[in-house]
Amino acid sequence: MTSKYEELLERAYSMMKGSGVEAKRFEIPAPQSLETGGKTYVYNFLEICDKLNRDPHHVLKFLTKEMATAGSLDGTRAIFKGRFDRATLSRLIQIYANKFVICPVCKMPDTKLARENRVTFLVCEACGAKSSVV
Ligand SMILES: [Zn+2]
Repeated sequence: MTSKYEELLERAYSMMKGSGVEAKRFEIPAPQSLETGGKTYVYNFLEICDKLNRDPHHVLKFLTKEMATAGSLDGTRAIFKGRFDRATLSRLIQIYANKFVICPVCKMPDTKLARENRVTFLVCEACGAKSSVV
């Protein structure tokens, strides 16, 4: 027989488990950028891609497409043609993460991209879900 006390304990424990997941939340470094001479430099681009655990070329391709501009990688930085403020860069990187990194089922970032029959899938290593990326 379960006592009221045990029930409370159980509930407190499940709430704690919940907050544990929350604490492990995925935090992407803020882009350290500089707009100068008609170009935008993102100095910590590689660090951001490392955190996303994605190929910098893939991230760059997504950003240049979204910003309708050209960009290139230069060591640890990325250089974009045109001026883009940090808020824009940050927002687009977040969109990239939501689309290509974070599992839509369990919201964890422990995922991999896989291609099958020209369809890209997000395969989650945390919960095993396989979601197509649209
Ligand atoms: Zn998952």
